[in-house]
This record gives sequence, structure tokens and C-alpha cells, in this order.
Amino acid sequence: MNNPSPALPKFAFDNSFSRDLEGCFVECNAASAKAPKLLQLNHALAEELGLESAALNTDGGTSVFSGNVAPDGAAPLAQAYAGHQFGGFSPQLGDGRALLLGEVIDVHGQRRDIQLKGSGRTPFSRGGDGKSALGPVLREYLIGEAMHALGVPTTRALAAVSTGETVLRETPLPGGVLTRVAASHIRVGSFQFFAARGDAETVRRLADYAIARHHTDAADAKNPYLAFLEAVTEAQAALVAKWMSIGFIHGVMNTDNITISGETIDYGPCAFMDSYAPDTVFSSIDTRGRYAYGNQPDILGWNLARLAETLIPLIDPDKDRAIEILTDVISTIPVRYDAYWTAAMRRKIGLNTEQEADGELIGGLLTAMHQGSADFTLVFRYLAKAVRGDAIPLRGQFAELSAINAWLEIWRARLAEENAEADARADAMDRINPIYIPRNHHVEEALAAAVEHEDMSPFEALLAVVSQPFDEISGQENFAEPGAKTTLPYQTFCGT
Ligand code: AMP
Ligand code: MG
Repeated sequence: MNNPSPALPKFAFDNSFSRDLEGCFVECNAASAKAPKLLQLNHALAEELGLESAALNTDGGTSVFSGNVAPDGAAPLAQAYAGHQFGGFSPQLGDGRALLLGEVIDVHGQRRDIQLKGSGRTPFSRGGDGKSALGPVLREYLIGEAMHALGVPTTRALAAVSTGETVLRETPLPGGVLTRVAASHIRVGSFQFFAARGDAETVRRLADYAIARHHTDAADAKNPYLAFLEAVTEAQAALVAKWMSIGFIHGVMNTDNITISGETIDYGPCAFMDSYAPDTVFSSIDTRGRYAYGNQPDILGWNLARLAETLIPLIDPDKDRAIEILTDVISTIPVRYDAYWTAAMRRKIGLNTEQEADGELIGGLLTAMHQGSADFTLVFRYLAKAVRGDAIPLRGQFAELSAINAWLEIWRARLAEENAEADARADAMDRINPIYIPRNHHVEEALAAAVEHEDMSPFEALLAVVSQPFDEISGQENFAEPGAKTTLPYQTFCGT
């Protein structure tokens, strides 16, 4: 890296990963970008990280966010990880196009990683160029920030730059770098990398580090590594239930894209479902529908079983006994997931109390939505209008009315058993059922304007509404509407 010429913003780095986990990474510098331009800076997140956003919105900030200059105290490194991709194991993946600059402690006392994505080749790049196209950088920025606003644990976007260079994909595309912030970048695949090499000692060091950083209660348990697996299981079950409750499809739930912290990571081919159909798949490479909307809870269990396998030597010297103990935890995943899902869905349909038959009631609505090709987001949003006395917008979402009409009667009877005032109930529903999600056609329009015409205004308009997804803004109704139904299904592509 060159000597800094512009004044550089200050980061109070405290780099525990590089200090404590020798052997889990390779030190590496970013490539330089020819003519970087800061396209987007997340001022609120900068403040949360204890950074001065005015100092970031400068030539010095642009140099840092493009990878041209490493700020003082940074210890850039590429992390090692492996992973099961679409079910097949790759023993060596790693940060092939990302660099951890370092960690800062945010204003809440939380340790956060600051990482560049798209900053050039690393020893893990294999055949890749280590770069990112600008479109996927902006997509990750937008959808990650929408997820955060929706209350979903997620990595965040601090900045997006265009590099002024072209990256070669199927066609030449403008390049970009995303500055990503995460609770950490440790993945299920991080454990798999060392387990696959028979290096149980490094698996143990990684587990100790992850316990201290993310799941501190596990340290006091009788068996800390088992408690660790349980804690990751809880965090991931809660996460996937959140995804399901907002119609989010991650699209590439490979074990290298599953965090130990429980944050959503790696927004590649992800997208939100419009009409409810459990077999919805958007990713062009997910030809068998492994990561379809309705499969996500099962894949959660499959992925955590892969984490459990890496912990076998840490659990019991008797391998069979260790497997038995770990399997007991893995077998609880459907029940844990279901508890989060049912709780979330109860709130979405306005229930304040629990009854045995609620699962059936929720299932009944989903069946009616499937039969009636109803829009997932708007159905839940319009349920609150029905609580307020107007069921017409809700019915308007259904192509077929008999099922939803029957359901509405059962639902109303169930609501009547609760002692709740209609307005208060509807208001509570509006605080969890969004009106704005990043609709696929709007995302595409915003990215096309930014990438093809260097016009960031559609991106910024969309970012503004999805950053306040529960507040209806007059004049912005268009952002609430699903795109026209087309004969060709919507397709997404991996963020490379
Ligand atoms: P992903 O599918 O984006 O989660 O990435 C899977 C693996 O491919 C990771 O090890 C990435 O670092 C690597 N990778 C993806 N794109 C590139 C690229 N353009 N250059 C080098 N490595 C890449
Ligand atoms: Mg990944």
C-alpha cells in the first residue's frame, strides 16, 4: 500500500482475531483502485462505531474504503474457512475477495469487524480476481440495511465505493468495494476448515474465541463446547425464523455463509418473495431448489449438524459418546425453530396469547395465501386494516376468495377470545409487519440506474423507504407494490 497522502480517518482498532488466532488467517494487503469514488456512506452506522462520519466522507475515507490505504492500526488479513456448497464439501474456500481490516469496539461496547469486500486477490482467491462488481456491492448494501431495519440480525454496510475499474464477468462491469461491518466473520466453515485437517486443537482455540466473543454464557457450562453448539443453534434458529416471517430467501445457505454470531451474512442471490409459494427459488444456480424458501428451516438443521461434527473431539474422548451427545442437541432444532416461528407468526396475525390450535390457524392462512397467490408482505400488513374494520385491501390480495373468507371467520373468533382493543392490536401489528421491503423490480431499477447511468438517486430513494419499513410514507405507495407478474420467473445471481 502507498503512503497516505490525504488525511486519514482514525479507527480505534483492537484486533483480537489477528492477536489470538494465529494460523486461522493470512496477512494480506488490498489491491489499489484506480479512481475510487465514495458512492454511499452509512452515517448512522459510523456514529454507532464511534467513527466520525465527517472524517470518513473525505478523500482519506475514500482511500480507506477502496483499499488504497490501510488506516493506522489496521492489520489486514484474509480468514481461512472451508464449507459445504450445495451439499458438497470444499476443504479450502477462505476470504478470496475480502480482507478484515480490524475490529473496533462500538458505542454499545460490542466488538465489530470492519471488512473490505472486493478489494483484490488473497492467498484464498484460487482462480478468482478478488474483485466485486458494483451491482452486487450495492445490492448487499441495500438488502442488508433493509434487513437491519426489519429487526433481523445482520452484517451491515458502512460504505460503498466504485473503483473506476472494470471487472470481467460474463461482460465487463464497473467494479466496487463494500465496507462490511459484522459481529464477526466466523462461520460454520471456519470450524470445518480445521476439522477437515484433523486439527482439533485449532478447532478448540476457535471455539474458545467464539465463546468469549459471542456466547459468553457457554464458558460457565459443565460442557462449554456443547453449550456453545446450543447457543449457536438458538441464534441461528431465531435468525431463520425471522427470515421466514418476512418472506426472505437467502439463496445460498452454504455452511461458509452461516455465521456463529447468528447474523445474516453474504447477500448474494437473496431476494424477498412476492406471492407466497414455499418452493420459491430466485438463484440462477440453485437449480434443484435446495435453498428454496420452504427448505430454509431444514437446511438450518443440516448446517448445524456440520458444525456439530467439527466439535466431536472436544466433547468426549469416546467418539460414539460424543456423537450421541451432539446428536441430542441437533435433534432439538426443529422444536427450537418452531417455537421462534410460531411466536413470530402469532404476533404477525395480531395474537397476544397462546393457544394450542394457533399453529393450525397460521398454517390455514398460509394455505389460503398459496392457493390465492397472495402477496406475502401485503397480506400481513393488510391484516391490521382488517382489524380496524376494512378487510377489502386484504381480500384484494387473493385470486381465490373462499379459503381466505373461511379463515377470516376463524381468525376473528380467535381474536374475540382476547381482551384487546382493536386499534392497539392493529398498531402493534403495523410495527412488525412491514409495508416496504426491497421489492425485486425496485432493486433492479435502482442498481441499473447506479451502475449504468451513475445515478444514485433511485438507490437512495429505495434505501430511504426500506430503512423505515413500518411507516407508511405518503407519496411512496409505489414502493409497497409488487412488480407486475411476468411469465419469466425473477432470477438472481451470485455476488461475484
Ligand atoms: P460466496 O459464494 O460469495 O459465498 O463465495 C464463495 C467462495 O468463493 C469464497 O471463498 C469467496 O471468497 C470466493 N470468491 C467469490 N468470488 C470471488 C472472486 N471474485 N475472487 C476470488 N474469490 C472469490
Ligand atoms: Mg460467502
